[in-house]
Amino acid sequence: MTRAGTDARPLRVAIVGSGPAGFYAVERLLRQKDVVVQVDIFDRLPTPFGLVRFGVAPDHEKIKRVTRVFERVAESPNVRFFGNVDVGTHVTLDDLRRYYHQVCYATGAQTDRQLGIPGEDLKRNHPATEFVAWYNGHPEFRNYEFDLSVERAAVVGVGNVAVDVARILCRTPEELAKTDITDYAGEALRNSNIREVHVLGRRGPAQAAFTNPEVRELGELTGADVTVVPEEVRLDPLSRRSVEESGNKALAKKVEILQGFADRQPSGKPKTLTLRFLVSPVELQADGEGGVGGVRVVKNELYVSDDGSLRPQPTDQFEVLPVDIVFRSVGYRGVPLRGLPFHEHWGTVPNEKGRVIDPATGEPLRGVYVAGWIKRGPSGVVGTNKPCAAETVGCMLQDLGVGAVLSPEHTDPTSAEGMLRRRQPNLVSWDDWKRIQQLEEAKGMEQGRPRVKLTSVEEMLAAIGRG
Ligand code: NAP
Repeated sequence: MTRAGTDARPLRVAIVGSGPAGFYAVERLLRQKDVVVQVDIFDRLPTPFGLVRFGVAPDHEKIKRVTRVFERVAESPNVRFFGNVDVGTHVTLDDLRRYYHQVCYATGAQTDRQLGIPGEDLKRNHPATEFVAWYNGHPEFRNYEFDLSVERAAVVGVGNVAVDVARILCRTPEELAKTDITDYAGEALRNSNIREVHVLGRRGPAQAAFTNPEVRELGELTGADVTVVPEEVRLDPLSRRSVEESGNKALAKKVEILQGFADRQPSGKPKTLTLRFLVSPVELQADGEGGVGGVRVVKNELYVSDDGSLRPQPTDQFEVLPVDIVFRSVGYRGVPLRGLPFHEHWGTVPNEKGRVIDPATGEPLRGVYVAGWIKRGPSGVVGTNKPCAAETVGCMLQDLGVGAVLSPEHTDPTSAEGMLRRRQPNLVSWDDWKRIQQLEEAKGMEQGRPRVKLTSVEEMLAAIGRG
């Protein structure tokens, strides 16, 4: 039989997940001039774009413009979108093996990491990931509740997600009204009593994971004064040496921005955002009514670990921060995928450069690949997924070159679609999604906002006449 990838016998690829990693993989596949590819993109939600829709903060509309690139990809003649199809439920990996030469999972990291300290079962202790999914209108999180009637919040972690959460809590209603934040979240935040937000880093300012534009933005909030504890942003000798030796100008700038916050006087803005460093929560304390009433933290100092990085170690000094609601923002985590091996500790699918590896044999699982956070863990910005996906696609093409692909029984695109529509009659096509998008944008236009998101699958289906 001729090799797949020709006009007569196109390479048929299923991409599972329509976030940045999935779309960058498709873009890369389409760029091959000498391989004819037909790609079907699956998403368990009716809407494409993954974390660009449900993760990127509503007040960061510019970051979402990357979807224009993805739209061009989706509209190429050899690409189809099958939304509202859950791979693992409506179809299994074995089903896909019967219709595609290659399957690439780009499903991201769908859950969060815990702190593992006493008191995590108290009310008003939330993963930041859920708060983010809620305010961004993820259908599975729209009914979550966050009690913003309290006044003091802690956000644990100093990555960009922690910064997003802290910033959204501090935004004024007028600022939020111009964004695509969901109506229910906009209203809850408009009525919020939160006045103090404490962001807690376990290491020092030189080890903070957030990036410079994000932390600079905290100093420019109209509704909140930003503060730091001066001695916490002063570099200890180990950090000073590591910043100097790294020659990393952006890192030196980050420290400078944070130290600049120490010189500021409160200007009377309604809210205060405090960035703390070298503190680790050791216990969430109860308020007597089953809710969070405080966070007990231990002060840390840094030491050089075996791998040369500076790690935190606890001292014997403790402090209790009186706060009423906690958002832990200590990283996303991948979830196991049906039919694929899983590395429990890392929360990723074991792989080599994107080729899924069967742990039992140490050999690649023929025709099955991963890209994005499920491949490398939850790190990097949207664009980081481009080289990550390119690496995976490189392996897919190499394997194609040596004939190491699956042998599907059905290679006619219409038979795949027929099977999918039988399994999921409410499949959402790209044209269906465009209608949902037009509706969201038209509503947004009326209100001077980029879009007003539909937040339930039922609403979306009703919008395309499937009520
Ligand atoms: P992240 O950047 O990995 O940050 C996680 C933070 O949690 C770190 O400060 C980490 O501290 C801390 N942490 C982990 N375990 C902890 C513990 N047990 N106790 C206290 N602190 C703990 O993850 P993220 O904020 O979830 O973001 C995920 C990725 O998305 C990142 O690459 C981020 O840059 C990206 N993102 C980008 C944007 C943007 O571009 N605007 C917005 C949102 C997210 P250590 O460093 O000490 O481990």
